[in-house]
Amino acid sequence: MSPQRVLIVGASIAGPALAWWLHRYGFEVTVVERAPALRPGGYKIDIRGAAIDVVEQMGLKERLEGMATDMQFMSFVNRAGRRLVDVPSDLFMGRGEADLEVMRGDLSQILYDETRANVDYRFGDTIAELDPVTGGVSFERAEPQTFDLVIGADGLNSTVRRQVFGGDVVRDLNHVVSIATVPNHLELDRWELVYSVPGRTVNLYSTGRDADAKALFLFGTDQKYEGREQQLEILNTTFRGAGWETDRLLDAVAVADDFYFDTVSQVELDRYAVDRVSLVGDAAYCPSFASGQGTSLALVGAYTLAGELSQSAPATAFATYERLMRPYVARNLKLGRDNLGRMISKSALQSWAGAMMLRVLPKLPMKDALVAKITQPIHDAARAIELPAY
Ligand SMILES: Cc1cc2nc3c(=O)[nH]c(=O)nc-3n(C[C@H](O)[C@H](O)[C@H](O)COP(=O)(O)OP(=O)(O)OC[C@H]3O[C@@H](n4cnc5c(N)ncnc54)[C@H](O)[C@@H]3O)c2cc1C
Repeated sequence: MSPQRVLIVGASIAGPALAWWLHRYGFEVTVVERAPALRPGGYKIDIRGAAIDVVEQMGLKERLEGMATDMQFMSFVNRAGRRLVDVPSDLFMGRGEADLEVMRGDLSQILYDETRANVDYRFGDTIAELDPVTGGVSFERAEPQTFDLVIGADGLNSTVRRQVFGGDVVRDLNHVVSIATVPNHLELDRWELVYSVPGRTVNLYSTGRDADAKALFLFGTDQKYEGREQQLEILNTTFRGAGWETDRLLDAVAVADDFYFDTVSQVELDRYAVDRVSLVGDAAYCPSFASGQGTSLALVGAYTLAGELSQSAPATAFATYERLMRPYVARNLKLGRDNLGRMISKSALQSWAGAMMLRVLPKLPMKDALVAKITQPIHDAARAIELPAY
């Protein structure tokens, strides 16, 4: 029998991870990515719980450990830049010993490098039309082609999902996150600074491996925008004059070449497959930036979907994939909603009280219980799936 031909749409995390597993199981894989080349950039991302088992099985864990951000401290600063409190990064992020923190771009590059020799990557193209019954696909640039399966790994605003699944499945949490590489003018070394004003937060950090720094802006808004110009305008109206280093960072972000700006949103589907088409990663179950679990879900989803396809006919494989993923997805979607409330303070008093709480925390007798109360839901959500052995 000739190998089954699979088209994956999207080459960030979920797409190349799925390609890795499908190639291993003997599928013939094509990946189409709209961007002209692999997209760099993004913030630091966590690989936790079941996703650690996945990268271990891929033989990538040691390499990723060598690329870990090695962040040491997170400090809350006031308007004048004075550090109010320094918190060890691992404590604040609820990172367990086995968890890994790497740059999104590094992970994407590794997954791409690991698959490029065996997978047909087509950059600078996308699907135009897709027939879920026949697997017939027309592209914007390439000639039409028919595939046995088509998998959308094209993120939060998935075209595959919109074309095939329809429906209003994106829940906008009414916040926006924007991230860009900026000069490390404060000479931060594996240190993150957090400046929080009501409804808005700015983070700035540099890892041990980067000469530059990353700036992150998180804020509540229901404004609509289109294109970089409007996005920069919203950032400016929201943050300019807010204090600390904010204005300088806004100037740097305006000229950054890896500017990222997206809504904090979740995706909740009532089915994961239609005929020959399924979805993986953010396209299927984006838990939002606030969950810190989007990358782990993408890695685990890729493992599970490919594993099931290696064992059964597509209809059965898609159904089992959905059954295995659903409880895990639900836990992580809830985590995202719960976390967002803690990432943005509603008042100056709340910002101050949060910083003071963290300052006294290490001295409290029940500090371990208090930290566990905050971090346990993260670990539970990260482990809320038992990975089948394929
Ligand atoms: C440049 C970038 C920076 C990011 N930074 C962060 C961050 O700092 N923090 C964070 O939590 N998450 C970030 N994310 C999202 C994060 O990567 C995902 O939440 C998570 O890793 C799941 O990955 P994914 O592969 O499912 O989706 P995504 O990472 O969103 O990748 C989707 C991919 O599909 C491509 N694509 C979209 N539409 C089409 C189409 N029609 N045809 C072909 N290709 C298409 C996109 O260009 C992208 O490469 C970023 C994503 C990108 C692309």
